[in-house]
Amino acid sequence: MKAQIAIWAGKTAGTLSKVMGNSGSTIPGVVARKVDGSFLHHLRKHTNTVVYITGTNGKTTTTNLIAHLLECSGKRIITNREGANMVTGIAAAMVHNAPLLGWAKNDVAVMEVDEASLPKAVSDCPPDYLVVMNFFRDQLDRYGEVDLLIEKMKDSLKTIDVKLILNADDPFVHRFSDLNKENVYVGLASNACQFPNYSVSESKYCPHCQSELTYSNIHFAQLGHYQCTCGFGRPRTDVSAEKVIQSPNGIRLVVDGEEYVTPLKGMYNAYNVLFAISLCKELEMTSSEIRKCLVKSQRADGRMQEFMINGEMWRLNLVKNPAGANVTLSEFFQSKQKKQLIFCLNDNLADGEDISWIWDIDLEMANRLEVESFIASGKRAHDVALRMKYAGIPEEKINIIPSLKQAVTHAKGKNTPAYIMATYTCLAPLVGILSEEQNLREEETFGADPVPLLSRYIKPIWGQRKYHLLNETVRMAWNQRSGRRNQEP
Ligand SMILES: [Zn+2]
Repeated sequence: MKAQIAIWAGKTAGTLSKVMGNSGSTIPGVVARKVDGSFLHHLRKHTNTVVYITGTNGKTTTTNLIAHLLECSGKRIITNREGANMVTGIAAAMVHNAPLLGWAKNDVAVMEVDEASLPKAVSDCPPDYLVVMNFFRDQLDRYGEVDLLIEKMKDSLKTIDVKLILNADDPFVHRFSDLNKENVYVGLASNACQFPNYSVSESKYCPHCQSELTYSNIHFAQLGHYQCTCGFGRPRTDVSAEKVIQSPNGIRLVVDGEEYVTPLKGMYNAYNVLFAISLCKELEMTSSEIRKCLVKSQRADGRMQEFMINGEMWRLNLVKNPAGANVTLSEFFQSKQKKQLIFCLNDNLADGEDISWIWDIDLEMANRLEVESFIASGKRAHDVALRMKYAGIPEEKINIIPSLKQAVTHAKGKNTPAYIMATYTCLAPLVGILSEEQNLREEETFGADPVPLLSRYIKPIWGQRKYHLLNETVRMAWNQRSGRRNQEP
């Protein structure tokens, strides 16, 4: 009965919050847990299999991928899709999923769990599977040291029966092996792919004896094939990507001899896809089912999201720590075309209030001729500008525009695409602003006959030989024809 009241209270609070104009993604969860302190227990009771996904980078994408694959195979799932990954976010997903009376019965709960929230989530609702992706320095003000965080997470798992899906390439993650659970080790073979010179800022020391680890192969940061003189080293993998190939349409992976294709772009998605494949195989999806569903997967908002603005393909990616920002910059500079770089930095609670991490970003790599202009934006635009200046970027190239909207408008005035990296709370407003700009263009274009459309888009195609421009033109023409203007093909 208490749980039922918690659901009703949560649903009411959610509706009220929406009426008042808040997106309110976690408010129903906060209220439900106030009414019923052990609300998460019910997830365990009413779900056959509970899966948690945790780690610093990539967990939203991986959670969405797993949820999509399982759903595609006909499983009933419950998930916290919006990336509301604290205990209240999980509770909110439960409130949202519950009917007015009683509980929905789900096959699998696929929950993204914030590293610091894992112990609480585990004690309230122990998972059957835990995917541990990676650990990078992230929002130190909230977490303290990575080592302490890992120990707390491990402590919470000691007494429960859980199968761990571990990143074999990350020495930090390998420390979960001490728990002596049933482990599935996942990793990239040494010559699987060439990550574009991601700079290394993570410590690479043995967790057992503190000696420096030796690497026969580094993928990026501390991820790779490592070994210590004391015997600690990369474990033998159970699931291995032998080859990862990037194409304009996404990435292709060869995993244990079988090929998988996904529309997700960016080399760093290789790990996300690999984790999703491994977990779904654990839940008895066949390779051919996974392959079939993977083709139809979509990336989450703001993850290397593309926007066609002024006939140019703009890109937007979430960053929240030095490792992620370095990966983003490297992806951005895969293309040598002229561009603008916008860095939007907020310091709200969800972004991390301590912004000192921007000094660990390898912004020096962005100081190149092809970047014609830099824009520092967001609440901490001035700090970004200072960091840019110390990266050796000429002052006359740096523009300080705290307003996101004005930053986009300024960038639109140039004839080069903008590549944008943004912290968490900048992301949703930017997706809104950029989508609006994109739709504006489509409406202007499609209001008239098809001739201006062709002249507008064909010119950049010849100028830049970009396949995706052609794709985009075809996509928009198709959507216009079938009246599905804003949907993905
Ligand atoms: Zn050692």
